[in-house]
Amino acid sequence: MPRLVFERLIQQQGFGSRKECRSLIRHGHVTVGDETWDDPFVEVEAEGFRFRVHGEEWLWRPSAYLALHKPAGYECSRNPIHHSGVLSLLPQPLINRGVQPVGRLDEDTTGLLLLTDDGQFIHALTSPRREVPKVYEVTLRHPADEAQIKALLTGVVLHDDPETIKAAACEALDSHRLRLTLTGGRYHQVKRMVAAAGNRVEALHRSAVGAFTLPPGLAPGQWQWITPEEVSPLT
Ligand code: URA
Repeated sequence: MPRLVFERLIQQQGFGSRKECRSLIRHGHVTVGDETWDDPFVEVEAEGFRFRVHGEEWLWRPSAYLALHKPAGYECSRNPIHHSGVLSLLPQPLINRGVQPVGRLDEDTTGLLLLTDDGQFIHALTSPRREVPKVYEVTLRHPADEAQIKALLTGVVLHDDPETIKAAACEALDSHRLRLTLTGGRYHQVKRMVAAAGNRVEALHRSAVGAFTLPPGLAPGQWQWITPEEVSPLT
């Protein structure tokens, strides 16, 4: 059970440098229960520790795992060029502690994006060997026909790889929509596979990664805490 000096605990959770955290505490901006804790050097049991900074409640976490409902018009890169970055949808302490997306979604793709500051978790979910399933709802420009679905399931060829690449699952939701499950995470993979099958993606939404499904109540732009076991029960 980790015991930490109060200012160190606050710092670990992304509230600035040790000096900045000391100042936050000394100025009475950090409360625990109903009390203002203004001693930066008191020792605290970190596990299960809840505190408020400027009135906002936090729970101490050794690592941060989040699910974000990514809206269209946001880039996943750390240094976005044409649009806002997804990190701008998160509170500053999470950005400070180094939370980053697990893989990427295109700027116009909506849906489930996981974020974490746990590098091992990112590696486990993005490593091609682990074949973590990702489920996409694909809106097509042209009606899907059986031949296209068959091509996606048996394998299509993308221009940068001579080997065929196939979907783990593909079903028609209606005439213009497919649910596609992929275990790879190649650049524009859905769009390129659908194009290779003879159709075109009009809109793309990710509904699940591993065992985790985008919660129906999580609106575009909102995020929530999750646990790694909810995504990958075996890691
Ligand atoms: N495949 C794509 O083409 N785009 C995404 O955003 C995700 C998967």
